[in-house]
Amino acid sequence: MTRVGGRGRAQGTLAGVAGLAALAALVTSTSSAAAWCRSTTTQDFTPTGAQPCDDVGKPLQWASRCVSYDVQRDASFQVDLATTRAVMQASFDAWASADCPADPVACGPGGGRGHPTIQAVDLGPVSCACAEYNPSGGNANLVIFRDAGWFDCNGTPKTEADINLALTTVTYNTVTGEIYDADIEINSNPEVAELTTTSPPTRVVDDLQSILTHEAGHFLGLAHTQLLNGDATMFPAYKQGKITLRDLDRDDVCGVCAAYPPERVADCAPAPRRGLEDVCGGGVAAVIPPAPAQGCQCALLGTRGASARDAGLGGALGALVLAVVVRRRGRKRG
Ligand SMILES: [Zn+2]
Repeated sequence: MTRVGGRGRAQGTLAGVAGLAALAALVTSTSSAAAWCRSTTTQDFTPTGAQPCDDVGKPLQWASRCVSYDVQRDASFQVDLATTRAVMQASFDAWASADCPADPVACGPGGGRGHPTIQAVDLGPVSCACAEYNPSGGNANLVIFRDAGWFDCNGTPKTEADINLALTTVTYNTVTGEIYDADIEINSNPEVAELTTTSPPTRVVDDLQSILTHEAGHFLGLAHTQLLNGDATMFPAYKQGKITLRDLDRDDVCGVCAAYPPERVADCAPAPRRGLEDVCGGGVAAVIPPAPAQGCQCALLGTRGASARDAGLGGALGALVLAVVVRRRGRKRG
């Protein structure tokens, strides 16, 4: 008998601060090559130098080998819909194309074991602009811009620092850790971010692909890496002008391969829980468009489950690498 847990919600944010020294206490002196951490069902976990990753809760993970996402159709005045869709897919593809090593925990050199058993499928734009999970209706894993400021869809100011560049909300089963829904919000307020998308990068300010590759890591259930690993995509800070987050660091590769081993047996079921919904609030599930044939033999998978929220990428207003405040809050519902 499978128990279905309540829905949990956790937030992690990155905040840009100049006080990097304050983070020094969080940097461990471990000699382990692996520094990646996974998001777990433990709510309110705060990394410390002694315990950089939670090892108590169940790691978060999508059950299917295919997950879907949908860009909110208004996109942003800074980046149009078509460009956003292309950049988002490239960001997910960076994770899906990782070359897995034999032992992602030791995270030694080499690869050749295959790719992670996870890939993202774009089901097309939707209207809903709210990061939400509907427990009794259709859903969508959204990519939403916030042009007018760091507010929720109803105009409520977000409680995270308004210099955050992005936030990913993950809804999961609090017992099993199975992810049910994930929504990415990008702070496109021009006072916070000047989003650039050039490829090859001729002029880079706040590189959207770097930001979205980081958020895609959260979407897939990864937490921020340990602070000793400043080159990783999952490092919790972004410095303006950088594009290096577009490409996974060795540590990121090990993290996603540990979460989705190449040998994992899983169906390809990209549809959101209870079907794709175009508008907010669940409603009547829309017809699910067929998933692309490339790479997966798709079948709809019925699942049951619960909710959580994780991780944002801190904005870069200053010249320094942004420091990070990793914070998660949660609440359980029956
Ligand atoms: Zn983050």
